[in-house]
Amino acid sequence: MDEIEYLKSCVKSIKDFPKSGIVFRDITSVCENPEAFPLICKKMAELYADAGITKVVGSEARGFVFGAPVAALLGCGFVMARKPGKLPREVYSESYELEYGTNVLEMHQDAISSDDRILIVDDLIATGGTVEAQIKLVNRFNATIAGAVFAISLPDLGGVEMLKNRYGVDSRCIM
Ligand code: IMP
Repeated sequence: MDEIEYLKSCVKSIKDFPKSGIVFRDITSVCENPEAFPLICKKMAELYADAGITKVVGSEARGFVFGAPVAALLGCGFVMARKPGKLPREVYSESYELEYGTNVLEMHQDAISSDDRILIVDDLIATGGTVEAQIKLVNRFNATIAGAVFAISLPDLGGVEMLKNRYGVDSRCIM
């Protein structure tokens, strides 16, 4: 089995979670696996190793799980896009629609500077709503978005196309 097939074999699909009609890709078994988790983080970082990234952005909570190790592997900083009311200083906020509900993300107003080159990292892209909120937050700082990388893509939900067509953001997925 090659590495991608191995990683795919670690993801479980759960029908009707968190509500009826949704097939949830459960990546916790990748995170718990001492071979799979370092491997997938390394693969995500390698895709942007030569892109001059200065900061990784990840959203609460699974974006933290993958974003922080990818930032450490790239030797750059990690910016948290958090749920409302969690960050103690002045924030920028963006609301967005999820595959199953709505949410708000916030970032500290001094988290990024205009000369940063940003990589957005998340566990999964579906409609792209979550990453779109992060793009809007990063755009408040006039920083460059060098790319976005996801462990899993659900291409039928259109997120990758939306990123390219609406924002010109290059994105890559491991599986
Ligand atoms: P999007 O905003 O529609 O692209 O959905 C992606 C976001 O929702 C990511 O932050 C994921 O953590 C979460 N998400 C949506 N569907 C799934 C799933 O099937 N498994 C795990 N996370 C999911």
